[in-house]
Amino acid sequence: MNYAVIGYPIKHTMSPLIHQTNFDALKNESTYTAQEVLAEDIKDIKKWIMDSELSGINVTVPHKETIMAHLDYIDPKAIKIGAVNTVHYKDGELHGYNTDVTGYIAAFNAAFGEKKERHILILGAGGAAKAVHRAHIDHGDIVTIVARRLESFATFKSDDFTGIVTNDFTNRHYDAVINATPIGLNHEDVFETMGIDPSFIDDDTVGMDLIYNPKTTPFMTYFKHSINGLDMLVNQAMDAYKIWTGQTGDTKSVKDKLEKYMEES
Ligand code: NAP
Repeated sequence: MNYAVIGYPIKHTMSPLIHQTNFDALKNESTYTAQEVLAEDIKDIKKWIMDSELSGINVTVPHKETIMAHLDYIDPKAIKIGAVNTVHYKDGELHGYNTDVTGYIAAFNAAFGEKKERHILILGAGGAAKAVHRAHIDHGDIVTIVARRLESFATFKSDDFTGIVTNDFTNRHYDAVINATPIGLNHEDVFETMGIDPSFIDDDTVGMDLIYNPKTTPFMTYFKHSINGLDMLVNQAMDAYKIWTGQTGDTKSVKDKLEKYMEES
């Protein structure tokens, strides 16, 4: 079977390394490549998938939303978030899913437990924040999102959260804070950059940064218990593998490989 990740640009994707490692670990002879697809070619995606003899694709920026109009079936979770990152070509039909949502909540709950009605604060209101928001709402948590601009909230498909802008930020207790901004990729401090006083963080507030490289960000150092985004990254890929094949991926081999790759790079 052949699989690919599509996007534009696509140079920096980790997906081929992740999936090839998984295939190798499972002695599966499938292939996985990164393919540049232009925005204007998304309307022909079905023909392209058939011509390329692909059984499934991952979808990244800027196609996660626009591809939805060209699919035969979309999983309800992906409809609710308004984005698809995994497509399965099955019986002549394209089926779309969002494994960022499932991959995220599995990583979060494995690290911090599965309690419900937790108060969650998300920093940032872009694509990843939408997956995090959907995951927590579906789990039964209470979500507040802080963004630098009020307009960012208009891009959400539902209004089941409290949206605040940074200069309206007031102290209250949160069970968890999630950094869903790119601030920290170059060791910047997201609280400083967004002008948020971190004194609202309590001893029992946990932190999750969606960034996985660097391994530890300044954001993570504010919490007694924090994790980075590596498990989310691995989970979303393994959930895609499960959708495509019905089989469980080799999570440990993939995680070990990524950790080694990032240490060496
Ligand atoms: P995105 O769609 O570009 O959204 C980024 C968000 O951060 C936007 O709301 C943006 O605000 C905000 N932001 C950026 N710079 C800011 C600043 N200086 N001050 C305040 N807000 C700022 O990006 P994304 O796809 O959501 O990704 C966000 C991060 O998550 C990235 O680091 C990405 O690598 C990571 N991520 C990780 C995984 C994983 O599997 N671990 C998956 C997806 C994403 P505006 O809307 O105002 O521009």
